[in-house]
Amino acid sequence: MIAGQIQKLTESLPKDVTLVAVSKTKPNSAIEEAYGVGHRDFGENKVQELCQKAEELPKDIRWHMIGHLQRNKVKYIAPFVHLIHGVDSERLLAEINKQGVRNDRVIDVLIQLHIAEESSKFGFSYDEAASLFSNENLYPNVRVVGLMGMATFTEDKTQITREFETLSTFYNAWKAQKSLSVLSMGMSNDYPIAIAMGSNMIRVGSLIFGRRN
Ligand SMILES: *Cc1c(COP(=O)(O)O)cnc(C)c1O
Repeated sequence: MIAGQIQKLTESLPKDVTLVAVSKTKPNSAIEEAYGVGHRDFGENKVQELCQKAEELPKDIRWHMIGHLQRNKVKYIAPFVHLIHGVDSERLLAEINKQGVRNDRVIDVLIQLHIAEESSKFGFSYDEAASLFSNENLYPNVRVVGLMGMATFTEDKTQITREFETLSTFYNAWKAQKSLSVLSMGMSNDYPIAIAMGSNMIRVGSLIFGRRN
């Protein structure tokens, strides 16, 4: 089931699009099934769950932290995390840098933009992100490699398209100057729109692993 789903999805994607299989709440056996057909990028949104799975599963898995990250938990994932998608404040950036120094590594992150209508979603506003990018880089142990955004949870495809398109335009405006290479947008319900709007990293859970409880 899972193996077939992930193969089908992977084959349908453009070559330059990375699929992050979102395995949150799913058991190790589900991840192992996807791993068995060659998949290596997995996303989790809880630090404790991510750390436990990372300890128990093969070491060549690339772990993506896709959820809201509290500053006091950065230290647990800093030694091994592949990419932190949800950097939503400068204070979090500073903490990731501190843990990068401690672990003697440069940690790759995405700046999360608040693109949805809902107030519940985290992220920088476009103005805040622009000012962050305009300032001197104060965090040598953090590498901002791109942007992440979540569209409004709605059936309105026009609205989703508009939100992704705006993020994509912002990404392209800063891409060269900041050496950005990753635009993470799109989930099970909206990833085709996201790819059409220029996404090159999608975070897909339920479509691969089935519905979560
Ligand atoms: C859960 C989650 C996803 C995956 O959602 P699906 O609808 O199951 O594909 C993607 N991104 C983030 C940030 C998530 O928390």
